[in-house]
Amino acid sequence: MLGEGPVWDAAHHTILWVDIMGCAIHALDMKSHALRSISTPSMIGSFALCTDGNVLAAIQEGFVFINKNTGEINAIGNPEKQLKGNRFNDGKTDPAGRFWAGSMSLSGEKGTGNLYMVDKQLNIKKQVENVSISNGLCWSLDQRFFYYIDTPTMEVVRFDYDNATGEISNKTTVITIPAKEGYPDGMTIDSEGMLWIAHWEGWQVARWDPSTGNKIDSIHLPVSLVTSICFGGENMDDMFITSARVGLTDEQLAEEPLAGSSFIISNTGFKGFTFPAFNLSQQ
Ligand code: CA
Repeated sequence: MLGEGPVWDAAHHTILWVDIMGCAIHALDMKSHALRSISTPSMIGSFALCTDGNVLAAIQEGFVFINKNTGEINAIGNPEKQLKGNRFNDGKTDPAGRFWAGSMSLSGEKGTGNLYMVDKQLNIKKQVENVSISNGLCWSLDQRFFYYIDTPTMEVVRFDYDNATGEISNKTTVITIPAKEGYPDGMTIDSEGMLWIAHWEGWQVARWDPSTGNKIDSIHLPVSLVTSICFGGENMDDMFITSARVGLTDEQLAEEPLAGSSFIISNTGFKGFTFPAFNLSQQ
């Protein structure tokens, strides 16, 4: 229904992603092609792999650890306990192995979302507030900047980022996206520091230069609701792209029967990085 949050697990040559509405994490072993699914008790926005092999997820009940084998849940904390009209959305680990995930309104209300960071000691800190649809996030290669998308703004903003503390400051708009490109959704970064953005209602993933604000490349997809992207594969030059079918009419679904599929584009000529595992070593 709503594919999101792809994560490449290099150690197990496996691509994982979530179906937010389907309440599941899916895991496809790229060698054996075996597909496994882990059900979650409620809508899952995003997750990170942990150093102990389990996952840290942002679900309706807040931040939790999920045992990958048994599905057992261990609560970390819920900063949105009082915000019943919200759900969690996109998330990712930062270069220091902390997990960041944001939220959004279930009914389309503006400004009710927030972006949080979970650190190694399992403290949950609010990083950005008054967000409408918290979405794509990634860090610059030199770890000086944090890039972030609040979808309805049609912008990518950049914050100064302190990798020692996770603190962000000095918000600046670096990319403004024309309506014809589609809404900016998920995001990742390649080895040249260029941003790859999934465009909701845009039929594409596109490569944007955060230093000029220009679109410099794009890949057309056979689905309109492109939701997120990550790099993976043996040489980190394959792209994994998720999409959605939620809300499409029968007529639209007939036009794009692959809506909701996840896509693999091999040997793209671009390279990316794996995200660090959430670091549990100091507990
Ligand atoms: Ca998203």
